Amino acid sequence: MISLRNVFGRLVLTTRTDAGAEAEGKATASQLLRLPPEIILLVASMLPTPSAACLALCSHRLNHILGPGFWRSLQSEAPDVLLAFLSSLAKDLPQHFVCQECACLHRMSTIKWPRLITRHLGPRCTWQNLGYHHLFLSRYQIHFPHIQLAIKQHYCGTDIGFPLEAFQHLEVEHDQTQQKITLLSVDAQIVSNELLMRSQTWVLLPWSRRDEFIDELAENSLSCDICVHTRLGPLNKNLTSDLVRSRLDQLETQEKCRTQTLQCPYCWMDYVVYAIDFGERGFAVLITRWVNLGAGLDSADAKWQSHITVRMARGIHHPHHQGDIRTSFEDQAELSVEELTADNKLKLFSRRQNRLVCRGSDGLVWKWDQGKWWYLAPSGPPERSFWNFLMYS
Ligand SMILES: [Zn+2]
Ligand SMILES: [Zn+2]
Repeated sequence: MISLRNVFGRLVLTTRTDAGAEAEGKATASQLLRLPPEIILLVASMLPTPSAACLALCSHRLNHILGPGFWRSLQSEAPDVLLAFLSSLAKDLPQHFVCQECACLHRMSTIKWPRLITRHLGPRCTWQNLGYHHLFLSRYQIHFPHIQLAIKQHYCGTDIGFPLEAFQHLEVEHDQTQQKITLLSVDAQIVSNELLMRSQTWVLLPWSRRDEFIDELAENSLSCDICVHTRLGPLNKNLTSDLVRSRLDQLETQEKCRTQTLQCPYCWMDYVVYAIDFGERGFAVLITRWVNLGAGLDSADAKWQSHITVRMARGIHHPHHQGDIRTSFEDQAELSVEELTADNKLKLFSRRQNRLVCRGSDGLVWKWDQGKWWYLAPSGPPERSFWNFLMYS
């Protein structure tokens, strides 16, 4: 971590040691440094404090001429000025990003990929605030720095360690006592410089548990959540159970199950609730969501905040056109939602063993966690070693 207090010292030191005598020689030859120190001081005094501080970081000689005064004034500036200064520095430091919580530069490598389910969560400031859960009880969570880093990589155009693969996730929970299997799949796209995510939740139950399940959802919808507004309000707390009941009624009366895209009036999300009859194996309720998590520039961004808190719900009503987020995501998606659904169905019915790492009947490698969760191993070239995949969690 580079704090505001020591960033100056570190970068000046880097300028001295790394660039060495050659850079110093070039600097003295520059037109700017040929000016008398009084003129340089006069120019710097007309600059905004962050720009003057940046100027002092350009070379050891400029730092010597300008002295520590600008640096001291910068530390007493408002938080947004400090963040703007750090953002300027971060442009030339591809392996660092500005932490909006503690006004520091953190190394990108300290932030774990969301799909790595691990106890090593990185700097406390980056995860202690509310995160976004696709499924309330899942250990897969998105925190603001994840969006920041995905967007930073998008702007960089090269791999700086946080590709969209970092968000791909698939987990299955077998709850023997509830006779329930829950599956969650997540993938991400960047569209118009904003991070969009698509998640699909499946809940598979025997038909004998139908009414009990609907009653449980009316009590609390944590096991089959749509968004924070169905969990905590202000949406009707029976919305999830009512939707599930209506879809199951359609199945039982042989009607075609409705698949229209719905919209939460308080957050940037489109969703579809669907049900499938698997005969003797029971029924499954599917919820597919498309969320817009925003541009990752400011943690106070309304799009991001709308997914993690109900505080702003009063001021927001139908923030986007229904279906826009779904269409934007699907236009770029490698896998269509129909292909995703077919793929998830196979994984829902895969047989997995109770072993730390096992190959399921689908031929895929799964990691077992806490007695009832299985996480799908990353496909393609691993972002970390297989040993790490085994050890993390
Ligand atoms: Zn921090
Ligand atoms: Zn909502």
